Order: sequence, then structure tokens, then C-alpha cells
Amino acid sequence: MEGRGRPGGRREILLRLARTGGVYVPAFYDVSYRADGQIDQVVATEPGVPDRVEKHTVMDLDAWPYPKQPLVPLAESVHERMSVEIFRGCTRGCRFCQAGMITRPVRERSISGIGAMVEQGLAATGFEEVGLLSLSSADHTEIADITKGLADRYEGTQTGLSLPSTRVDAFNIDLANELTRNGRRSGLTFAPEGGSERIRKVINKMVTEEDLIKTVAAAYGAGWRQVKLYFMCGLPTETDEDVLQIAELAKRVIETGREVSGRRDIRCTVSIGGFVPKPHTPFQWAAQLSAADTDARLAKLREAIRSDKRYGSSIGFRYHDGEPGIVEGLLSRGDRRVGAVVEAVWRDGGRFDGWSEHFSYERWMRCAATEFAKNGLDVDWFTTRERDEDEVLPWDHVDSGLDKTWLWDDWQDALSEREVDDCRWTPCFECGVCPSMGTTIETGPTGKKLLPLTVVNGPAL
Ligand code: SF4
Repeated sequence: MEGRGRPGGRREILLRLARTGGVYVPAFYDVSYRADGQIDQVVATEPGVPDRVEKHTVMDLDAWPYPKQPLVPLAESVHERMSVEIFRGCTRGCRFCQAGMITRPVRERSISGIGAMVEQGLAATGFEEVGLLSLSSADHTEIADITKGLADRYEGTQTGLSLPSTRVDAFNIDLANELTRNGRRSGLTFAPEGGSERIRKVINKMVTEEDLIKTVAAAYGAGWRQVKLYFMCGLPTETDEDVLQIAELAKRVIETGREVSGRRDIRCTVSIGGFVPKPHTPFQWAAQLSAADTDARLAKLREAIRSDKRYGSSIGFRYHDGEPGIVEGLLSRGDRRVGAVVEAVWRDGGRFDGWSEHFSYERWMRCAATEFAKNGLDVDWFTTRERDEDEVLPWDHVDSGLDKTWLWDDWQDALSEREVDDCRWTPCFECGVCPSMGTTIETGPTGKKLLPLTVVNGPAL
């Protein structure tokens, strides 16, 4: 019935969308390969379809206060709360972070826009918790006023407020304290990401060990009992020593916590994920660590934590095996030839692979071996292989605004352990996004000091 009532049918719709320049329709692009397996070129096959697809950017978030009426699941969900996005983009420049890279520049929602979304969203959903989300919520220029305003507004009600895992910064403890004025202070989460000072320079996570210790001291001192720390294993240039530093950090965290709180029942949980290089980041050229090496490194870390008599029993350790990370890596940086592997896995019975009880590494590797045998490639070629500067990457024709030369230079800076500042507070370092997309950084402060809301159980503000 193709085309009935719609001249040209589905194909015509796709073609018109592709011609806008902002919608990627893979069927209208042809990929050719070189004898060594690398991509030779990707070209548009239809007239009027551009060779590169551009991302589009909403500049005024207040004009788009969505979702207004989020669906409320009947079943209990993991994050049972309403989410309000307080800004988009992040220019801190963490080199592993695809979300930060592809959503530049920073665009803040105003304090009054946030207040209205919280109020209307709670009325529409009945949720009892609101999460103030973004890629790094404490970086909103008016976050102190937002948290105070909302805490005042909902004081004495059933409505709880939360910020997601935050940067390592004592200021964030003040924010968390404000949001839990009446509530229980159970756990706080921070993401130093790398165990050693050296590896944090490589990934551009500008956090010193002293920052972390000061931050956890403020947290335990304010009555928080549990601190969770997120790290990654398998980062570029990483050695066993970098990862073993995580154990030393965790021990110092417990030691500090016991000192400032005067208690022995405080805890620190270390949670570690395997690093998977992502497209559109400076690490898109990096080699991923093999599953066996990841597991071996994490086993050494577990041993270093468990064997510690003074602090070991106060430190929790959560980690992911290396094998699922390799499948993630294959999907992350694969090209359309990996599509055949995905289909083969599905035909072989693969379902719900994100659940560990259904995940079969053996099936993925078997199907990949069969499919890749047709073109002389293997899983390592897609995952543990470092790419050269001039290689055509499978996503080069999807334009996130980032200049590829800037990304390469940032990759070289990573290898030289050179950090790059946040362009919100320093001059533009020319990543390419603003001039190529016609955008600018949109931050406050707006000068408004209180949310234009009334206190639910009290006098009007
Ligand atoms: S172009 Fe400059 S100001 Fe804009 S996001 Fe990139 S570094 Fe920041």
C-alpha cells in the first residue's frame, strides 16, 4: 500500500526529512571500504541530501518547558521521581564524556522557568520527589538560589528534592544539605572518575586528592554517613598503579570520615565501570582495554581493598566485568558492518542482553566471528585498536559542531597530561561548536533572587 494518499510514500517522507540537513537517514548514504577494512568514504546518494548531517540546537530552554506532563508508570520504577532539566550542555571538557561534547554549548534554564516546571510537573504527576537534572547540576550559575528557593517552597511537605551525582566540590555539600533540610542524610555520590592525579589530568577531570578529601570531610561532618565514588577502569594510558590509587583514596576517605564524624559506622562505596571510548570525543581514536586486562586490573584493586585490616570492611566495592564492555565498545564505535552482527545475535536468540542473566558473551563473539570472517575483520579491530589521525571514522558525516582537528589536538593534550579549562570562565578555546552552529554560551545569573512561588506550608514569599 506504499504511497496511498501520500505521493512518494515512506521514501518521499524520508527524503524530505534528509534534505532538511538535520535528519540522518542512513539509507541515503553509501559507504565504501578500503582493502585494509577502513572506511574509504561516505557519500550522499540522493540529490539535495547533504554529505554531512548537522545537529540542531535549542537556544532558549524557557521557551521549551518540556515534558509538561511526564508519564507516570503504574509499576514502581528505579528512579521514581519527576525530572526537571535545569540546563543543557557542559563545557568542563571531560575527555571521555560524549554527552558533554555533543551537547555544547551550555544553555541554562532560568530560575523562574525551573520553578514553574517543578510546580506544574508535581501537580500533573503526583510525584513526591523532584530531581534537578543536567550534565553537572551544581554548575548552574543560580544553583544556590534554586536549591534554597525550592527548599523554602517545599519545606514541611512530602516533596523531596535531589541533585544527581555531583562534582567533587565542597560547595555541593552545601547544596545537598539545603535540599535535605528535613530529610535523612544517607548517601552522597561523587565522580572523581580516575584514581590517580595523573590519570585525572589525562581525562581532564580537574580534581585533586585534596579537593576530594575536603569534600568528603564536609559531607561526613554535616552528618552524611555514606559516600559513593564513581571511577572508570581502562582509561587511555592507564596502568595498574593508577587504578590501585583508588584503594588509597578510599582508605583516606574513611580515615577522614572517622576523624570528622567521630564515628566508625561511616562507609565509602567504590563503584567502577569499564571505560568505553565514544564517538565525537577526544578518545574516539583510543584503544579500549581488553576484557582480560580489565578483569585482572580490577582483581588487583579488589585485593588491595579487601586485604586492608583498618579500613577494608568500611569500603564497598562494585564493578563490572570486562566482557560486556567489549560488546559495548563494538556497538559504540562500530560501523554498519556491525549491524550484521547485531542481527545475527538476535537470530541466534539474543534478547535483553542488558540484563546480566541474559547476556551471552560467547554468543556475541561467535556471531561476530562468523560475520566479520566475510570481510577479514574481528572484534579487536573495532575495540582494542588505536585509530590514526587520518582514518575516516564511521560517524564523521554526523556533524556535532566539534572541529575534528580540535578533537585530535585535545587527544594529544590528553596523552601529554595537559588540562583544558572550562570556556564558561575562560576565553573560548575554539572547539568549533559556537561559530559552526551559530550558538553562544547562555548562562546567568539573571539577578532574580527568589523563585516566584509561594511556600506551600507558610506565608507567601
Ligand atoms: S566554541 Fe568556544 S565558547 Fe563555544 S563551546 Fe566551544 S570552546 Fe566554548
